[in-house]
Amino acid sequence: MKQIALYGKGGIGKSTTSANLSAALVNKDLSVMQIGCDPKRDSTRMLMAGTLIPTVLDLIRERGEENLTLEDVVFTGYKGVRCVEAGGPEPGVGCAGRGIIATFQLLERLSAFDEDVIVYDVLGDVVCGGFAMPMRKGYAQEIYLVTSGELMSLYAANNICKAIVRISQNVRQVCRLGGVICNSRNLPDEENLVSAFATAVGSRIIAYIPRSEIVQHAELHNQTVVEYAPESSLTHSYELLADAILTNSEFVIPSPLEIEELEKLARSYLPKFHPDLNSHKKI
Ligand code: ADP
Ligand code: SF4
Ligand code: MG
Repeated sequence: MKQIALYGKGGIGKSTTSANLSAALVNKDLSVMQIGCDPKRDSTRMLMAGTLIPTVLDLIRERGEENLTLEDVVFTGYKGVRCVEAGGPEPGVGCAGRGIIATFQLLERLSAFDEDVIVYDVLGDVVCGGFAMPMRKGYAQEIYLVTSGELMSLYAANNICKAIVRISQNVRQVCRLGGVICNSRNLPDEENLVSAFATAVGSRIIAYIPRSEIVQHAELHNQTVVEYAPESSLTHSYELLADAILTNSEFVIPSPLEIEELEKLARSYLPKFHPDLNSHKKI
C-alpha cells in the first residue's frame, strides 16, 4: 500500500490536484482511497459528484466513535474511489492538539486501509501539531508539496519541509519528501522559480500542472477534470503526475531555506521590467 500526502498552502489547489490524481490512479485499475484532512471538507466533492460527505470528526462528535461503521464514514465515488473527509476542530473549541488523528484511529479500527494507494489531502499551513499528525504518526510516508511561484505558497511549502525534517529526526518515522508539484498561477518564469526552490530544498519538480479554465468548467459540472475532459491536455498532466508518483524512487529529507534565502530566490525571478512599477516610480 502506497500512502502519499499532498501538503500546501490553503487555496493553492491541493484538493483539485488530489481529486484528479485519485481519478487518474483509479483509471489505471488501482484501488484508491482519498482522505481529505481539512475542515473545509471539500476534498472529495468532485469525486462524489458535488456532494459534501459528512466528516468523521463530526460523526464521532454526534454519535460516538464506538457506534460508527465503515459505511458511515467511507463513501464510494468516481469509479469506486473511496472517499473520506476527516474534518477538523470544532470552531471556537479546537481539538486540544489531537487534530485529525482520531479519524485515522477509527479508520484503522474499521480496517479501512486496504487500498493500493491512499491519497491524503492535507491543509498545509503546518503551524499546529494537529495537521502534522498524518506525517508524525507514520500514515503519510511520501510527501508532495503543492505550490505555485507565489511567495506565500513557497513559504508554506518551505514550512512543510521544516516539519518533515523535525519528524524525520525520529528514526522510527518514515516521512520523506517525494517532490514538488507546481500548480501554476501563470506567473512569469514560474516553473523555473518553483524548480529552483525544489532544487534548493534538495528535491525536484515531479509534475507541472498548467492553470486552465477547464478546472472551473469541470467544477461547475461537479466532476474532476479527468472525468469531465478525459482527452484534454490537463487530464494528461494529471496522468503524468500519477505515473511520476507511482514510479518515484527519489525520497529525501529536505533542507529548508531560511526566510531571507527564500525571499532572495523569489526576488531573483521577478521580471526586470514591470510597466506598473515603472509608472508608479514616476509619480
Ligand atoms: P486547496 O485544496 O489547496 O485549498 P483547491 O483545490 O480547493 O485548493 O483550489 C482552489 C481553487 O483554485 C479552486 O476553486 C480551483 O478551481 C482552482 N484551481 C486549482 N488548480 C487549478 C488549475 N490548475 N487551474 C485553474 N484553477 C485551479
Ligand atoms: Fe487547531 Fe491545530 Fe490546535 Fe487542533 S492542534 S485546535 S487543529 S491549532
Ligand atoms: Mg482543499
